[in-house]
Order: sequence, then structure tokens, then C-alpha cells
Amino acid sequence: MKDFNFTPQERKHLFEKVLEKLEGYYQHTSDYPVSPALELSEIWDYARSANFDQPAEPLAALLQVIKGLEKYAVHTPHPKYFGLFNPRTNFPSILADLITATLNPQMAAWSHSPFAVEAEAYVIHELGIKFGLPVESIDGVFAAGGAEANLTAVLCALNNTFPDFTKEGVFALPKRPIIYGSLEGHHSIQKAAKTVGLGYASVHSIPVNTQLQMEPEALRAQLMKDLEAGYQPFLLVATAGTTGTGALDPLPELHAIAQEFGLWFHVDAAYGGGAMLNTALRPSLTGIELADSITFDAHKWMSVPMGTSVFLTPHKHILSQTFSIATDYMPKEAQEMEIVDPYGHSIQWSRRFIGLRVYLSLMIFGWEGYDQIIGHQTTIGHYLRKKLQEQGWKMYTDTPLPVICFSDPRFEKDPAFTKGVAREVVSSGSTWISVYPVHGISTLRACITNYSTTEADIDSFVADVNRARELY
Ligand SMILES: *Cc1c(COP(=O)(O)O)cnc(C)c1O
Repeated sequence: MKDFNFTPQERKHLFEKVLEKLEGYYQHTSDYPVSPALELSEIWDYARSANFDQPAEPLAALLQVIKGLEKYAVHTPHPKYFGLFNPRTNFPSILADLITATLNPQMAAWSHSPFAVEAEAYVIHELGIKFGLPVESIDGVFAAGGAEANLTAVLCALNNTFPDFTKEGVFALPKRPIIYGSLEGHHSIQKAAKTVGLGYASVHSIPVNTQLQMEPEALRAQLMKDLEAGYQPFLLVATAGTTGTGALDPLPELHAIAQEFGLWFHVDAAYGGGAMLNTALRPSLTGIELADSITFDAHKWMSVPMGTSVFLTPHKHILSQTFSIATDYMPKEAQEMEIVDPYGHSIQWSRRFIGLRVYLSLMIFGWEGYDQIIGHQTTIGHYLRKKLQEQGWKMYTDTPLPVICFSDPRFEKDPAFTKGVAREVVSSGSTWISVYPVHGISTLRACITNYSTTEADIDSFVADVNRARELY
């Protein structure tokens, strides 16, 4: 049997070989086709070519895995991937994962990993300040994704409105609780409603205006109707940067309605929250500082690996009220100290030190680095709009964020056009974009979430879509 530790020489050799491969990928990402051919049987066979009854030579195994990822994946770190907020990971955050995997801090109990827990708490606090939350009461937790952060929000809102919910669950509910969100909101809210036992029909989706922002008056009308029907509205989810088009809901107006009707005000800024780190974009999220809770995905605009989201709240005690639990088996060394044990503060129990990806990135780039790099991506977005317009493409949405929905007005009534163009450019391996409907018109959707995308990449992208349009 292979020694689980390997020898120092073997480790050095494998480290060097793997680093060489990864460096090759990082340096030459733009040489790869952005997306693979989806040959199911070929991929199936490749994954199953590993034989667990006959252990492989380690280097061969590693190279086989890296090759599989190089060959059979959409390369989200590629500068011409204009997709769904998936970034190119920054280098410090890659090293953070290596460090975390090696030292393997256990984040469940403070006393097991006090530095790691305090480093995360520090990042949460500083992010809370960036989002304008009242300094003395900032709290929050790292989550695996926006979906977990939104689920955390639904649970906190339930526990806030129904104090017996933590013990009695749905049996503590006097009336049917209703969640409100935008028709353009993310479906992780519906999923959260399913998970907590309310069911997705408890989410009432509110119509949007021409810019795909939630209509405050439509919300008010729905609230009146639901109160009349005997429901209990308890949570309003505003979206700051919708997944489809980057639309920003009118936060101050929605907050005022939440106040009036006694609703928990959650802002899903999974993507758009990055705007708070950029001086020019920041004002477009005005009102977020009034939130009862915020979802922000660092794995979108902070360019760190998948699985890094943040839940923020100005309610110092709500996470403990929602998640604390007593056990005999958890460590007690810090019992007398004024600390927070993470396992009583989040959905997860054992937890990875994901906050290091953000902590280390901020140590090395600083807020100023993020200010600039998010500004750069916004500028590239404006450049793309300009270049497309010069070529007769029409913009179907208007947002300060670099999410661009466009089409050729001559084909507005032909939904096959955008599908055809997207299929053509994606299958050529040159770029990745998607299609998204805007008020019933199918558009091409391109989003800039890669800090290394340049004007030359945009020129090449515009040439790609022009060529596909001619072929259509
Ligand atoms: C991406 C996204 C989510 C879901 O986040 P994950 O990190 O994918 O779990 C939720 N809300 C919005 C607005 C998003 O864009």
C-alpha cells in the first residue's frame, strides 16, 4: 500500500510537477477553447477509466485529473468567458486553498482554530463597514454560496418574526408566512422556502418595470391582497444585481415598504455587492445599508474560488438565536471567554477556512486593488456596449453593472436568431455567452467578471458575434 504521507522527495516532486501544470494553465488560459464539446459517453468513459481496485502511479493520476479538467470543462477563468459571474480566481486565493487544505483548520469550534475564526470575523466586520452597516452591531458568517446565504436569511427572518420557530418549527406558525421577491430574483429563494418547509408557493414574485426592477407599487398591492387573505408577510428580498440582467431593485423605496409592513429586509447582492467595493459604482446600491441582512458572493466579483459567500446582518444576536445548540461533545476550552463558536452561528458544522481566500486577497491587493479591478471590468463593459452599438446591435437593458443584454433589432421577433448566434460562437470554442429573455425578447447576454479581460478580447468577441450574425 502507498504510504499516506508520501516521502519528502515524492511530495517535492509532485508539488513541482503539479505547479508546473497549473502555472501553464494560468499563464496560457486564453489558448484553450472556452467550452468543450459535450460528448457524454467519452466523458463518462474518461471519468471511469480510474480503477480504484488498482491504484495508479501518483503523477499519472494527477495528470489524468488535470487533463480531464482542461479538456472537459467550460473555462470560466478564460478572458473570453462572458458568463454567469464565474470569475478567474486571483492568485492569492489559490494559495489560500492550498494552505487551508494542508493545515486543515476545523472552524466549528473557536478553540480549535482561534486565528482562522478571528480572521473570518475580521473580514465579516470590514465587509459590513463597506456595505454601510452600523459599525457596532455588524455580524455575519461565511457560507458556501449565495444559496446558503439566502437560506440563512430566510431562517433568520423566520426566527425574528416567529420567536418559537427555533423550537416548534412550522407548528409555531399562526398564519401562512409569505416571502416577497422580484420576478427576476434568484430561485435560491424558492429553494430556501422548500428547504425550510414553507414550500415555494410561499414566495410571491412581484412584477418588474421596463428596466426589470421590482415595482414598489405592485409589491404594495400584493401585500394588501395577502393581508386580506389572512397570510402573514414576513420577508422582503430585494435583488441588487439580478442574475439575468444585473437589474438593481429600488432599495430605499423597498426598505420603506418593508418598514411599513414589518418585514425583514434582505438584499440579495450575490453578484452586485461587488459594486460596494468600487468608488464609482457604490452609489448605485444606496439603501443596502438599511438591510436586515445581505447576501454577497465573494466567489463572483472578488475573484476567489467557488464556495465563498458571505451573509451579513446588523442584528448581533440573530444568528445565535437561529443556530445555537448545546452539545456535550463539542470542545469547551473557550467556555469562559467572550467568543462566538461558529457551529452555533451557521448552517454548517465542520467548516472549511474559506474566509482565508478573501482575507489573503485583501491583505495583498487591499481595498484599493478591488476598487481598481472592479472599475476595470465596468470600463470593459462600457467598451463592449459601445463596440456592439457601432455594429448595429441594440442594448435591451440599462444597468451600471457590466451585464449586457443585446440583439439585432431586425431579428427581435425571431427567437431562433439569438440561440443560433450563441450556439455558433460557443461551439466554435472562441467564447462563452448565453441567451436571456428581456420582456419576451430573446437577447444575447454577456457579463464581464474576469479581471484579465482586455479591450482586445472584446474586439475579438464582437468579431465573433458579427460573424455568427452573418452566417445566420
Ligand atoms: C448567483 C446568485 C445566487 C446564488 O448564489 P450561488 O453562489 O450560486 O449559490 C443568488 N442570488 C443571486 C442574485 C445570484 O446572482
